[in-house]
Amino acid sequence: MDIIKKFRNVIDDTSIIKGNDLKSRFYHIWKTDISLESICVLLPRNTKHVSEIMKICYENDQEVVIHGGLTNLVGATKSNNSQVVISLEKMDKIIEIDKESKTLTCESGVILGDLINACEENDLLLPLNFGARGSAQIGGAVSTNAGGLRVFKYGMTRNLVLGTEAVLPNGKVISSLKKLIKDNSGYDLKQIFIGSEGTLGIVTKVVLRLYELPSSRLTALSGLNSYDNVLRLLKHLEKNLAGNLSGFELLWNETYKTMVSEKTNYNKYLPDTHKYYVFIESTGSDYENDYSKLEDIISDSLEKGYIEDAVIGKNDKEQRNIWGIREDVSVLADERKHDQHFDISIPTSSIGVVIDKITTELKKNEDVKTIFPFGHVADGNIHFIIGKDSGEDSITKEVNKIIYSNIESVNGSISAEHGIGLDKKEYLKCTRNKEEIELMKLLKKSIDPKNILNPGRIL
Ligand SMILES: Cc1cc2nc3c(=O)[nH]c(=O)nc-3n(C[C@H](O)[C@H](O)[C@H](O)COP(=O)(O)OP(=O)(O)OC[C@H]3O[C@@H](n4cnc5c(N)ncnc54)[C@H](O)[C@@H]3O)c2cc1C
Repeated sequence: MDIIKKFRNVIDDTSIIKGNDLKSRFYHIWKTDISLESICVLLPRNTKHVSEIMKICYENDQEVVIHGGLTNLVGATKSNNSQVVISLEKMDKIIEIDKESKTLTCESGVILGDLINACEENDLLLPLNFGARGSAQIGGAVSTNAGGLRVFKYGMTRNLVLGTEAVLPNGKVISSLKKLIKDNSGYDLKQIFIGSEGTLGIVTKVVLRLYELPSSRLTALSGLNSYDNVLRLLKHLEKNLAGNLSGFELLWNETYKTMVSEKTNYNKYLPDTHKYYVFIESTGSDYENDYSKLEDIISDSLEKGYIEDAVIGKNDKEQRNIWGIREDVSVLADERKHDQHFDISIPTSSIGVVIDKITTELKKNEDVKTIFPFGHVADGNIHFIIGKDSGEDSITKEVNKIIYSNIESVNGSISAEHGIGLDKKEYLKCTRNKEEIELMKLLKKSIDPKNILNPGRIL
């Protein structure tokens, strides 16, 4: 019996996409013109479906690739004609928002932006927030341990996950949907599924930790002339805004210049002549007071010479516009036909020097046409989008070599938040030692001995 017939015993025919219908499916939201290669796409509607599907795949040595919102930047959701795709898109129910315990329980296919909005309607905050929130699913965010704009205040996704339910490669369901912040009863098994990029299990449900929704949100944009001043400003804000500082993001000059050029709809709030641009977010409970406090700190920073110029968003629309300059990275990716994305981690104090060195080395390579650094500097995470006119493998490798050799020399990481996927696994050894990689392989082998779940990712 062919495997599709076996799947029909679990889910109905409308939940199995195959043949010509695969032409309307794709492996990434930015590659909608490339048809998906796969035996079929399965759309389970509950955990039992996922479990039964995995039992069939396990018995038949069938390789499976998991699809969430398809926003990853490491080629993690690519598949081939001998693989089955399981998409979690139909498992999109919010099960409960518990206002007293400040927790949210949901299925893994809910879009992140929908979760953020549902929490806000209940006067609560889900601090997980990044540019792809309109498409990324919570299961994808958990599986990649996503970061984003508020990590230095609230931590990565890992810090927000209280419980998970996941299906192992052999179909067994491991359910631990507790709403507890503290639970030291043995191994913390949910950590196996967080950040392991779907190589150890399919996340089907999640319990998330929520916070009180701040009633005021303010945004400022400042121009600076040196990286030392970026560090001074960060310290000054952390000291004086205390717990209210919730975002501190950095754009280098070339990146800002492109984001506010005539080709985009973004206002040039500050002239494009500063070396650095810092985006500041402060959240609190009293708009008037919070505004004047931020204004005072900005004036003080101007007097002390940390910043050269600054603007505070006057209303919601202006704040959204300012954050658009930081978040709308597709503008940078669209600059050239081919692009390479990096999300590296470097100790915060070394960022200025290391990024200058990488930029100088990249500029010497005539195949590199655009270099756009930006990032979540307060937690040491910098992104690079490199634009090229050719997608030739040798050029890609040369660019990787420049960036990763510089990361290795400062004991940084080749992936701060996007993960390894297929695209970066060759370079895992730049940041993880032999013993670490051996232990990862042992873990994978013991949970997925047939290597059927997201094979080839990470390792
Ligand atoms: C414009 C833009 C901005 C971004 N900004 C950020 C950012 O600031 N911070 C950040 O961390 N990332 C960022 N990303 C990357 C991406 O959005 C995240 O990695 C996100 O968490 C992926 O979620 P997804 O649902 O799209 O997962 P997918 O891309 O579908 O999958 C990602 C990986 O998780 C696996 N997977 C998906 N769902 C499940 C599941 N339920 N169970 C097990 N495995 C699963 C997949 O097989 C794959 O290996 C950005 C991407 C874009 C396009």
